[in-house]
Amino acid sequence: MKEGRSFRCLLCNTQKATPPKGITVPRAPRKLPEKYPENVPGQWSVMDNCFACLACVDIAPQVFGLNFNNGGYAYVYRQPETPEDEAECRAAQKACDHHAIYYRKADPP
Ligand code: SF4
Repeated sequence: MKEGRSFRCLLCNTQKATPPKGITVPRAPRKLPEKYPENVPGQWSVMDNCFACLACVDIAPQVFGLNFNNGGYAYVYRQPETPEDEAECRAAQKACDHHAIYYRKADPP
């Protein structure tokens, strides 16, 4: 167990800095981000950890769109076709604070 990790005691319901000796606290399974179904198939997509900051829509509006449902989120409505589009997608990916823009290299022929 990592030092400094706190946990909530199930007996007294208080926050403890470290577990009692001999007790291991299991880690909660982490949910991995998934692609939004609105993304068009292709190399670029937006994952469901997007928090709708609109940076990608500002940088590459020809690729990223905004869905206003469920609190709002971005998605890829058109895959980039030109090198300029591709460069703007990379800039958007760099600007995304939540690392929600996913790029998958093309499969080798
Ligand atoms: S930059 Fe990232 S977090 Fe912001 S809207 Fe785009 S995908 Fe979502």
